[in-house]
Amino acid sequence: MAASGFDRALGVALSFFCVVLGSGCARERSQPVYYGQPAPGGTAVGQPATAQPGVPAPVATVAPTVAVSANDPVIHHDIAFLRGRAQQVLNELVAALPAQQQSRVNGIPLVVDATPGEVNAFASCSGSSPAMAISDGLLQIQSQLARFRAYDELAGTNKVGEYIGVIARSARPKQPLPEVPAGFADPRIDFDARKVTRQYQVLDEQLAFVMGHELGHHYLGHLPCTALSPLNLAQLGAVLAGAVPAFNQPNEVAADMVGINNTLTLGSRRADYRLTEGGALLTMQFFSGLDQLTPNDILFGFERSHPPPQLRTPIIQQTAATWRATGGVGLPILGF
Ligand SMILES: [Zn+2]
Repeated sequence: MAASGFDRALGVALSFFCVVLGSGCARERSQPVYYGQPAPGGTAVGQPATAQPGVPAPVATVAPTVAVSANDPVIHHDIAFLRGRAQQVLNELVAALPAQQQSRVNGIPLVVDATPGEVNAFASCSGSSPAMAISDGLLQIQSQLARFRAYDELAGTNKVGEYIGVIARSARPKQPLPEVPAGFADPRIDFDARKVTRQYQVLDEQLAFVMGHELGHHYLGHLPCTALSPLNLAQLGAVLAGAVPAFNQPNEVAADMVGINNTLTLGSRRADYRLTEGGALLTMQFFSGLDQLTPNDILFGFERSHPPPQLRTPIIQQTAATWRATGGVGLPILGF
């Protein structure tokens, strides 16, 4: 039924300038303005996931380049490390943008959202000051998805699926996210140097897509503080949608497209590993799996602020294919 869901969602996207599907990842509020609508009373959000296939081929034979530590910060989701890694990836994303777009987001701060159980990412304006945020909860989930995707690629297991099940069964609002049970992972696999090396690649792919999407909301002019004109089309859509907490569907599609282009361009500049769209698809897989396991219980702000994974997954796949087919250029995506 994913096809019919996608068709319906695509039809909606094409038929209306502004579609109300919940809260928006670009948010327009009377005081601070965010792209990545927060949960009511909560902070803002930012990204999806899906159980769709299409993730790039497993890389079980990756050459180990990372020294293995018993205190590996990805395996143990060390939040100080993950916040720093997010900042590093954000810096790389900005550096990989064309000059005009780069000038609009250069030096944009990445702020912390440590709300327990909050799983979200967003772009925001507070007055004339732009900002980006990715919550500690989303960082934790992305670290574990990277850990278990790398594990599965090496061992032929389904730890990603099992991990999604752990979150679906045990996550509770405003509570710290559940941990995997003792014995969940075999340390001989979990601390294998090839697997540890690979998990950092997958982590960066996820971070780059989530933040590349939010960054796009800023330089595409979807928010007032980084828009070029006082009231542009995108803002008008946000104002209209703002009557009810909402996200603007065309803007979400555009942010996904530039987020993937930015991720792949960033990746092409790395010497060790060229990032792919695999991390973006893994994030979609997570939220899609969560939707299937908890269909009546939208758990995380990220899901309220972004289109459903079944809509975003083909956009990610097609944008990445186009980026490769055009030699790293991609289709032009208009900003305002
Ligand atoms: Zn968004």
